[in-house]
Amino acid sequence: MLKGSGITKRFGGLVALSDVDFEVNRGEIVGLIGPNGSGKTTLFNVISGFYKPDGGEVSLLGERISGKPPHRIAAMGIGRTFQIVRPLMDLTLVENVAIAVLYGRMGISESTEAKDKAYEILRFTGLAAKAYSLPGQLVLEDRKRLEVARALGSRPEIILLDEVFAGLNRKEILGAIELTFRIRDEYRVTIFMIEHVMKAIMESCSRIMALHHGVKIADGKPEEVANHPEVIRAYLGA
Ligand code: ADP
Repeated sequence: MLKGSGITKRFGGLVALSDVDFEVNRGEIVGLIGPNGSGKTTLFNVISGFYKPDGGEVSLLGERISGKPPHRIAAMGIGRTFQIVRPLMDLTLVENVAIAVLYGRMGISESTEAKDKAYEILRFTGLAAKAYSLPGQLVLEDRKRLEVARALGSRPEIILLDEVFAGLNRKEILGAIELTFRIRDEYRVTIFMIEHVMKAIMESCSRIMALHHGVKIADGKPEEVANHPEVIRAYLGA
């Protein structure tokens, strides 16, 4: 579904991504790990069009997307959440999601219909009871769920999740893992996620890729990658 080959991204003299190849197949939940500064967010920014790669290309369902602007890439079916959640603070939850629906790929242009759809997505993400609250009233877990709901509003083929488990307690993490599976199974959305919470990665991902200093050092089953000597060395800072 999503494929990158030879992705290189430099910031001045710093090589944030170096010749990275990756593939995410339809229906997979793929994790992206690596110590801070290893290039994970840069890779998501390249995929979603916020950064242009200096080398290599990304394609979605066989069509080249690198070089296109973010709104075109979103319209082609790539949704994403941000580490720093940023809903529209003056709008209710249902309005926040309805905007994503109106600008998304569902072909809905009428606001009542968009709100109905938004409410359905809020129910799916466990936020129906707070549909008419403002984002500022939400606890962290619900802010993360709202971010996911907004990404789902555009009806993506694949969703890039950026640390949606960060800061959650054990019980909330279990709920978020369950939501991840339901996104794949009920909404049929493929998932590529940056994550530091090991439990979440190990339990929800079918495959994990690890980056270190902008280089892909491992790609495989969760247990294989977690026990990979280079991955262990990267995390120990060696
Ligand atoms: P991660 O998400 O794995 O923590 P990042 O992709 O954010 O890593 O960063 C990779 C490297 O690229 C870091 O050294 C970071 O400082 C650098 N970097 C990221 N974005 C920019 C930018 N816009 N300008 C300059 N350097 C950047």
